[in-house]
Amino acid sequence: MSELLNVSTLMLCLSTGLAIICVFVTANWLRERSNAALFFWALAYFTSATGVFLLSLRGLAPEWLVAGVGNALTTYAMPLYWVGIRAFDDRPVNPLWATVPPAIWLGLYFGLPTFQNDLGARILGASVLMVVTSVLVAGAGWRGRAKEPLPARTWLSVFFGLHAAVYALRLIVTLVQPPESIASLTNGIFMFSLFALALMGGFSIFVMTRERLEFRYRREAEIDSLTGIFNRRAFIKAVDRCREQSKAQGALALLDLDHFKRINDTYGHAGGDETLMAFSRLVIAQLPQGAVFGRIGGEEFALYLPDCELEDARATCERLREAVERAPVRLGPQELRMTVSIGLSADVASYADINFLLGIADRGLYISKRNGRNRVTALNASAGLKLIASLMAESKDAGRPDRDGLRQAT
Ligand code: GH3
Ligand code: MG
Ligand code: MG
Repeated sequence: MSELLNVSTLMLCLSTGLAIICVFVTANWLRERSNAALFFWALAYFTSATGVFLLSLRGLAPEWLVAGVGNALTTYAMPLYWVGIRAFDDRPVNPLWATVPPAIWLGLYFGLPTFQNDLGARILGASVLMVVTSVLVAGAGWRGRAKEPLPARTWLSVFFGLHAAVYALRLIVTLVQPPESIASLTNGIFMFSLFALALMGGFSIFVMTRERLEFRYRREAEIDSLTGIFNRRAFIKAVDRCREQSKAQGALALLDLDHFKRINDTYGHAGGDETLMAFSRLVIAQLPQGAVFGRIGGEEFALYLPDCELEDARATCERLREAVERAPVRLGPQELRMTVSIGLSADVASYADINFLLGIADRGLYISKRNGRNRVTALNASAGLKLIASLMAESKDAGRPDRDGLRQAT
């Protein structure tokens, strides 16, 4: 068993694994040189791969190179991972802090002959430095989760946390038992778990950078860049998900700003944009729990209220309409008032295509506009179903009526 967990072989494997990740991270950094996190991580993988390689040369290379320089490099790698995570999260950090642990190690090793010649003291010294720096890495990974919930952050914290725990255990074992008397199998198991965790921790840092890219691409594809709320596609996807999960009836509203073209004409396009942002902020502040809100066209927004009777939905929309009417929009020194017209449709049946609901709500919106704007028109389930049935009959070929068809159907 102890041959199976041969420490030098394990170290060579770990060193190779870290070197491979180092190549990938360096290649990424070369493509994106302004990314400081990638630079520090590439350096961390390089120093850890080199340090572990030197440690694997025990018996083949001079002891000062193996134990002295090898441990200095591995104790330098951990704080470099930490510096990288702080840079990744745009938190202030002085990279010189990362040189403190290896400086302590080099000072002890080359400055104190008693330390250099005492295996127990060396294990204790290296373990303390590894526990502290691994905890720092785990903590830094954990802290960013609220702001950016990347799954690899949790894994990173778990792996580096366990890395710290195994070193702490090694430290305790060394305190109660002289290191020379520790069975080689125990040492092998320690090394094996440390290597596995270091490799997995290192790999999760690499995965985290990939996840951030994926997360940002997905955000860009789903979020309206002006208002920061769902775009049309993401809104429809979220409502579909909501309708699948909810058995009770819901309601869908279309909200269209009144005479928006006039706002653009009077205050310019930038003023119009400010108004759209102010409107969406105002609605978000009033949204009931579970509601889905999105911008589905220029000055047209949609709101889905799950588990909500039509009358309650109408009351919510009335509250929104009044809030919009009351709230002034400040554009520099100027102030403008806006109003919104709303069309509301009961969620006819959970099997109805969302486009039907949008069509019915659009019909309600059309009525609100025609009757003088700044009002809510709600269409109940039977009115909606009648509308759908008549249009389905008329447009059999198309399979379902489109919005223009619904609009013209009066
Ligand atoms: P109504 O009360 O009937 O809705 O009249 P309206 O002027 O609001 O409606 P209309 O559909 O005629 O005009 C909508 C305008 O919204 C036209 C378009 O230039 C403007 N618009 C669309 N997207 C944006 C945008 O992202 N920013 C700005 N500033 N304007 C936009
Ligand atoms: Mg409008
Ligand atoms: Mg419009």
